[in-house]
Amino acid sequence: MLDRARPNDLRAFWMPFTANRQFKQAPRLLVAAKDMHYTTDDGRMVLDATSGLWCVNAGHGRPKITQAIQQQAAEMDYAPPFQMGHPLAFELANRLVEIAPKGMDHVFFTNSGSESVETALKIALAYHRVRGEGARTRLIGRERGYHGVNFGGTAVGGIVGNRKMYGTLVGGVDHLPHTHLPDRNAFSRGEPEHGGEDLANTLERLVGLHDASTIAAVIVEPVAGSTGVLIPPKGYLQRLREICDKHGILLIFDEVITGFGRLGTPFAADAFGVTPDIITAAKGVTNGAVPMGAVFVKKEIYDTFMTGPEHLIEFAHGYTYSAHPLACAAGVATMETYKDEGLLTRGSGEIGKYWEDALHSLKDAPHVIDIRNIGLVGAIELEPIDGQPTKRAFSAFLKAFEKNLLIRTTGDIIAMSPPLIVEKEHIDQIVTILREVLTSVE
Ligand code: PLP
Repeated sequence: MLDRARPNDLRAFWMPFTANRQFKQAPRLLVAAKDMHYTTDDGRMVLDATSGLWCVNAGHGRPKITQAIQQQAAEMDYAPPFQMGHPLAFELANRLVEIAPKGMDHVFFTNSGSESVETALKIALAYHRVRGEGARTRLIGRERGYHGVNFGGTAVGGIVGNRKMYGTLVGGVDHLPHTHLPDRNAFSRGEPEHGGEDLANTLERLVGLHDASTIAAVIVEPVAGSTGVLIPPKGYLQRLREICDKHGILLIFDEVITGFGRLGTPFAADAFGVTPDIITAAKGVTNGAVPMGAVFVKKEIYDTFMTGPEHLIEFAHGYTYSAHPLACAAGVATMETYKDEGLLTRGSGEIGKYWEDALHSLKDAPHVIDIRNIGLVGAIELEPIDGQPTKRAFSAFLKAFEKNLLIRTTGDIIAMSPPLIVEKEHIDQIVTILREVLTSVE
């Protein structure tokens, strides 16, 4: 047993993306959650400025969602998704298509963002092959991109710490430069002004290097979330779309974070006015209550697969838990909650502006070198301690938690994405605590 008096022995659980030894010496345990707050094991109410892990978009413990899951568990626990179906799966797919960008007419269900990415990459490769362009096998990601942790997603991702242990991962991958230009765009509100077209034009250089006939798809997060809320400069996504169209390359938006209202629109595609060919989603699809992911594809992609003898499986892919009944029940109730409360567009209204002004009021706080925001997401970048990158932000995270605020850090960046039900007083509280934290960290 650990020395500390704790309800559990913490040794067996190898925690994901966690400093295990640090955590187990001073555990941070959450035991309950309601609306904007978590409750800790020592009874503190902690304001959730991260929607759990960018997923609890409607806030915690929403009754409609809880009841739907309870009812479904009692009625039918599981149904096989291969060669069988259940009504809620079709209902959820229809609900999702209703709010998706126009033309994204079909949905493939997975269980996570990582699985959505693998699924999207496989759809892209298979699509070209079915069309007789099987030489299009190259995948292009972007520096500082995060596309989950499976092999394909790690390969197209652009985070060195996630990639360097695993050899060649998936071959035939190249990367665009990231879109963060601090010298030109620091402290931008919303979309930065400078450099968008030039950054996107680097795709033409990759086409020049590899030839379009070898490239299947480009995958980008419309706003890079996990590497610190990197908002693309104006014109960037439009230009990527143009270049992809010109060369017959599929454009995939990884909207695992940006989907379901985070930017003040249902999807980032709506916020930027650019429709990709495939969208990957997860997290907010069930408000984080049951694991689920979804891949949206354009009608033309789906139709391309729907050829050949009708008794044959058109796409040899799927998961035991694709369209799991509990996830579908949670998903339908989540879509109803978003709709009833207007949450998918709330971030583009007054509260989004309030969030922006509040975050930028921290410009003069100690250590701050950049602040970025869009919709109801934002980041505060700190000057790293010399020779000890990430330490200052991690200290800020620990201090904020002591002060009953949950933030997230990545590198030396504080990233925040409060539930879309956030009110002005919560935002005031976030900013007040952050100022105290920044003033007290080394
Ligand atoms: N893609 C993006 C853009 C993400 O932000 C994430 C997770 O944060 C993933 C994929 C992976 O999702 P999951 O952790 O559900 O596998």
